Amino acid sequence: MAAAPTVPVIVLPSSSGQRKMPVMGLGTAPEATSKVTTKDAVLEAIKQGYRHFDAAAAYGVEKSVGEAIAEALKLGLLASRDEVFITSKLWVTDNHPETIVPALKKSLRTLQLEYLDLILIHWPIATKPGEVKYPIDVSDIVEFDMKGVWGSLEECQRLGLTKAIGVSNFSIKKLEKLLSFATIPPAVNQVEVNLGWQQEKLRAFCKEKGIVITAFSPLRKGASRGSNLVMDNDVLKEIADAHGKTIAQICLRWLYEQGLTFVVKSYDKERMNQNLQIFDWSLTEDDYKKISEIYQERLIKGPTKPLLDDLWDEE
Ligand code: NAP
Repeated sequence: MAAAPTVPVIVLPSSSGQRKMPVMGLGTAPEATSKVTTKDAVLEAIKQGYRHFDAAAAYGVEKSVGEAIAEALKLGLLASRDEVFITSKLWVTDNHPETIVPALKKSLRTLQLEYLDLILIHWPIATKPGEVKYPIDVSDIVEFDMKGVWGSLEECQRLGLTKAIGVSNFSIKKLEKLLSFATIPPAVNQVEVNLGWQQEKLRAFCKEKGIVITAFSPLRKGASRGSNLVMDNDVLKEIADAHGKTIAQICLRWLYEQGLTFVVKSYDKERMNQNLQIFDWSLTEDDYKKISEIYQERLIKGPTKPLLDDLWDEE
């Protein structure tokens, strides 16, 4: 296995203490078919040089991620907790001004951490407080008090419970609304970006506003979920072959060259290592031309059943 490079970092401008975020993180959204546990995968990733982990209350992985970090500290793989960047996300049941601080404190207890590096509003939707249900039943949806919820997230950062606060799955329209009252602007918007959903408009908006994009499903869910328009794309295969790389590496290199951060999920030792090998070569102009012609369609259309008409504000 090739030696692991150091993953480059970016500074989150609105974070406490100008926190640095490694551009590549390990995703931890559960997959029923996975034979490797989250704890083992995170521990292996730390051994390989990953220092950024993307969790969420709704994934049910916070306990395992926390155990892996505790173990890595015990084994001396990490000298201190500060060496890792940990993101978690608040589920829609907690998207109420009065439930944000307790929900974040609960995540911290589960993770055995004193602070998070980044906490995100998982979706711009609120439901009645209660158990996590996925997909979300639309009959459980209540009004989302964005201003009140954001005020509570700002409180979390001021209390030192997290170094940075952000959102996920926010359209330009929703970000504009948020920016109109935010005292602390969102550090990050975590959204789907991959070669089959390149999100040019949203990327340009976030760049102008200083909001860092973290791309999720950067491989469009990889190869393990059947055929897809990225991993089975003949043009991408040609580009990959010409560079002596894999399609996954082309996907991740492109995101890196766009100046984005991204969270890619692999619990497989070899693929974890493969995904790290993207920082010392480049795509060509001709590759860019071909990539710009890939058919575009959003993969993750929403967390509700049935889907909501206005979730993406027609963007
Ligand atoms: P992804 O990272 O694009 O793809 C993951 C899949 O690709 C896994 O099945 C993985 O299998 C496979 N894979 C990984 N590296 C590979 C490689 N080099 N070659 C071939 N296959 C490879 O998709 P994702 O899990 O949907 O997204 C990544 C993370 O983003 C999630 O885990 C989660 O943390 C976050 N996310 C956030 C949201 C949100 O609403 N904010 C939504 C979706 C995802 P193996 O494990 O077997 O390698």
